[in-house]
Amino acid sequence: MAGKKVLIVEDNEQNMELFRDLLLSQGYTVMEAMDGETGLAKTLTEAPDLVLLDIQLPKIDGVTVARRVREHSSANNIVIIALTAHAMKGDREDFLKEGFNDYIAKPINIKSFLQTIENHLHRTSNCEQ
Ligand code: MN
Repeated sequence: MAGKKVLIVEDNEQNMELFRDLLLSQGYTVMEAMDGETGLAKTLTEAPDLVLLDIQLPKIDGVTVARRVREHSSANNIVIIALTAHAMKGDREDFLKEGFNDYIAKPINIKSFLQTIENHLHRTSNCEQ
């Protein structure tokens, strides 16, 4: 899915570097935000295909960012994937209720990280055809 735009919203610099490098290696166009406020603004103005959204963020937390994005019908097609260190039982359903399409637990497994993103972007482009 080279050329698809992915926005990473993550306040941990090492994570940001890792996610950016992985996505660039797959040919994605990468945008970055290091707090929730910037992440929300870039989601609404840059129209990424997919947002990787950390939950614990400065200024606005990830759950609130997702909720606010979903208030905009123009952003309905944007895939939002939660990045969470709290992958406990039942969380998945909670994230789906909040408007996320999926979640990825940190620390990430590189193969399933890329696979999850690829799966969602593939689904998106099938819908557009
Ligand atoms: Mn964080």
